[in-house]
Amino acid sequence: MTTRIFPRIVHHGAINGVTGSCHELQYADSKSVLVDCGLFQGSEASGTGADSNTLEIDFSLQAVQALVVTHVHIDHVGRIPYLLAAGFDGPIYCSEPSALLLPLVLEDAMKVGAMGNRRLIGRYLQQLQHQLVALPYRRWTDVDSSPDAGLAIRLQAAGHILGSAYVECRVQLPERPHTVVFSGDLGAPHAPLLAPPQPPEAADTLVMESTYGDRDHEDRAQRVERLQRIIERALVDRGAVLIPAFSIGRTQELLYELEEIIHRSRDNLAARGIPWKELEIVVDSPLASRFTRFYRKLKPYWDSEARQRLQQGRHPLAFEQLRTVDSHRDHLAIVDYVKERDYPCIILAASGMCVAGRIVNYLKALVGQQATDIVFVGYQARGTPGRDIQTYGPSGGYVSFDGERYPIKAGVHTLGGYSAHADRAGLLAFATGMAEAPAEIRLIHGDSAAKHELANELRELLPHTEIVVPGDSELPRFV
Ligand SMILES: [Zn+2]
Repeated sequence: MTTRIFPRIVHHGAINGVTGSCHELQYADSKSVLVDCGLFQGSEASGTGADSNTLEIDFSLQAVQALVVTHVHIDHVGRIPYLLAAGFDGPIYCSEPSALLLPLVLEDAMKVGAMGNRRLIGRYLQQLQHQLVALPYRRWTDVDSSPDAGLAIRLQAAGHILGSAYVECRVQLPERPHTVVFSGDLGAPHAPLLAPPQPPEAADTLVMESTYGDRDHEDRAQRVERLQRIIERALVDRGAVLIPAFSIGRTQELLYELEEIIHRSRDNLAARGIPWKELEIVVDSPLASRFTRFYRKLKPYWDSEARQRLQQGRHPLAFEQLRTVDSHRDHLAIVDYVKERDYPCIILAASGMCVAGRIVNYLKALVGQQATDIVFVGYQARGTPGRDIQTYGPSGGYVSFDGERYPIKAGVHTLGGYSAHADRAGLLAFATGMAEAPAEIRLIHGDSAAKHELANELRELLPHTEIVVPGDSELPRFV
């Protein structure tokens, strides 16, 4: 065992679950950087649920020189306004796409959260813009260039959502530099639009997510075919197909795959009398529409397949029969229209687990109609209406919204393979793909079973690496 004091890593979140990501890298006396500052969500928020007493920053910021953001999912960035409120005024480093997306995400989060005061939101957004530093991928940047306690960081594409990065931190020590890599969330192969992550060149310490550490994803390469089959089957009775989808990432992935289906099946019938090229696809979520616009702007960050489609004159995120709905009035009008008549179409709306947002109005209006079909493409957490529909729908049960019961007559389908996270094989490839194995791997951001199973596999593959599961192995052993 070495007796080095720095760098030292303190995990402020994502230890006993997958939300609230926040890690502090202490690289010298009274000097540290934070990597992510996310919100605890669902049952992982302490107290009685989300928005309970975990919003405040509950650790000292005195040593914190900077914040590095891996990507703009709310469980990685949601507490940034609270960080600013607590007086943090250092630089906030992130990738160039993330720097564009972050203000949108935080504005939206503040509107629905406890900070829903227009003046306050404006102030925090202004402060955020002032502190944001957009970094290009693959280039080292000095965070602290003091001769005795230097720190440089480099972002590498993580393939998880647009702008996502893993962070390499090079700490200057008297003997030699020590490199700590924070994985953020790692993407999966076969994801539309983004290339999968490449392992780091080197790491002395790797802090890695383990969300799917005990599972391999099913057959991602075939999912477009399955999506098409499900939709065509669902449209036989000429009802609407509802797809609850999160605004960031998942909606754009689906649009990309729908364009692929339309491109190759243009004149084939999607429903009786309607060829694919005429089937209307509705994105009914203002946030998703805004994100889709940014995704379109950020073409240089797309993978080669997506850029090739552009060169062929295709528009993966802006095809002809795509309709976006912004105003609430238009939204209500479409809900009524679809409810009153047979109207085969595909509707994408948030939230992904049907907890809130416009999808709820669609479900209230349409879940009781046999012609409707609901297609789930994401994980439905326990206690959410999405999980209830998935569980009780097939046997003719009901789902509750605002205290009222809605019998489920709609068809219910679940399409696997849509996770934006690397699976067991992907995580192992990332951790073992370096020329030299890291001295230490710390597994975070996963349920206990996932972390421990992955830890066991890594111990076999990398016998000279210390595999740490923070939270349990660091408990005092002899008490
Ligand atoms: Zn994420």
